[in-house]
Amino acid sequence: MVILWQKNKPALYPLPVPSALAKQDLKRTTDLATQSANRQWHPATGGNFSVRDAGDLCWVSPSGKHKGMLEWTDFLPVDFAKAELVQPCYVKPSDETALHCAVYRADPSARAVMHVHPPHTTALVGAGFTLSNNEMLKAFGYKTHELNVTIPSLPNTQDMEKLGLEVKLNLELKILVLEDHGVYAWGPNPDEAMFRIEALEFLCQLRSLSPRP
Ligand SMILES: [Zn+2]
Repeated sequence: MVILWQKNKPALYPLPVPSALAKQDLKRTTDLATQSANRQWHPATGGNFSVRDAGDLCWVSPSGKHKGMLEWTDFLPVDFAKAELVQPCYVKPSDETALHCAVYRADPSARAVMHVHPPHTTALVGAGFTLSNNEMLKAFGYKTHELNVTIPSLPNTQDMEKLGLEVKLNLELKILVLEDHGVYAWGPNPDEAMFRIEALEFLCQLRSLSPRP
């Protein structure tokens, strides 16, 4: 059984301290979360963020806090191999922690995972949604814009096992849209994960403005 939180049990031992690289990535992630909150990409307590550390350790944003006001010390230490906190804490990590863990298990190059609810992406992307011939496609790592790229999506679900399997199918684009919910993206650092989200949202916004079918 996956245990992510045990209410009213404080940390028994001092919690781990982030490595220098993870601390740097956590600080950058809080900056990016504030920027995306200012864009209205995760109103209220929506969105979640994480950073990989050494071994099987990752740091996951807490549940129930506005992600525009995250501080790097808010992140909770999670063993991504087991998808559970390294020890019981008072604060609960994101309800979607298991998906962050699935990304780190499936993609050794992933050092940061971002999940937000950008409106154009959420409204437009559904089964078979394809983007074609736009310069911004290079943000996904392609060398040319002369492509038809189908954006991976699936109906909204909280079934983390199903989502974890889906992650393994999307290791090239490193992005996954949940229809009527939002988008997950990951990359070798927080900025590259957010570039994917920014590029997709921009392309969807263009699509919504275009008179062409
Ligand atoms: Zn969400």
